[in-house]
Amino acid sequence: MSEAGTSENIGSQPLAPTPTEIEAGGWRITTLFDAYFRLDGGAMWGVVPKNLWASMTPPAEDNTIRMAARPYLAERDGVTVLVEGGMGDRWTDKMRSIYHLDRPRELSLEGSLAALGKSPEDIDHVVCSHCHFDHIGALVMADGDALVPRFGKARHHFPAAELEAARTPHHPRRASYRADDIEPLIEAGLVDWNEGDTQLLPGLSLHQVGGHSEGMTVMLFGEDDPGTPTAAFWGDLIPTSHHIQPPYIMAYDVDVPRSFEMRTKWLARAADEGFIGMSYHDPERPFTRLERDGRKYRAVDVPEARPRQ
Ligand SMILES: [Zn+2]
Repeated sequence: MSEAGTSENIGSQPLAPTPTEIEAGGWRITTLFDAYFRLDGGAMWGVVPKNLWASMTPPAEDNTIRMAARPYLAERDGVTVLVEGGMGDRWTDKMRSIYHLDRPRELSLEGSLAALGKSPEDIDHVVCSHCHFDHIGALVMADGDALVPRFGKARHHFPAAELEAARTPHHPRRASYRADDIEPLIEAGLVDWNEGDTQLLPGLSLHQVGGHSEGMTVMLFGEDDPGTPTAAFWGDLIPTSHHIQPPYIMAYDVDVPRSFEMRTKWLARAADEGFIGMSYHDPERPFTRLERDGRKYRAVDVPEARPRQ
């Protein structure tokens, strides 16, 4: 039974997944972990019929499906990058219960970093695909009555449109944003913003795709080294290894035609260029490649992924 104590009645949940690593263009990319939680299967699958998605992501009695919030650690040439910011622990009992949040310390972002011998001070850059609470919630922590940055030495990189959305009280997706996840980082002077296509660091480029949210951004690792695989962090463009046909668009997405256009483009690139895909919300498969399967795609395992040495 977990300390969070809200989801033990719904299926068995493995504790502390083994850290798994890949290499992509000189980057060593390792799985971290922050939480398991559950979202409504219908919302996660949009117009896809339940009799199709239920076999891929089996729902519980309340129609929720199991999700991960899984950040990654990327290291190259002495630079340490945290990819995505977890769900965090600043949740009321009511919200923990709605989301079946399961986040004992051994599964948390800070716990999974400690298991690799890393402390929050080791992080040089935090890069986030967008600013929904399940992607940045662990970047700020409570210190008495105050909210303070967890990664106080890191530059925090967010898409500009996401910063604006998180700070707009009447945004149509206001339920997905919390200004408290952002303001303490801005006050501490730790925030940088990006737009469009950007080279953030050597071997790390950002590509704003929109669709799911205005600023939704994909990260490519190692594209500068054609001799090795490129790794793609999808954010919520491709939230799980099952959301791999272009029309499998979540009901949360603010711009469905844009999501379809970008998913069509990036799924094809991933398959044709052999990207190692990183799906933040997939509870079982942290790394997958895509293969063409007639007019569709299928996700396959990445044989070079191995437990971190
Ligand atoms: Zn998400």
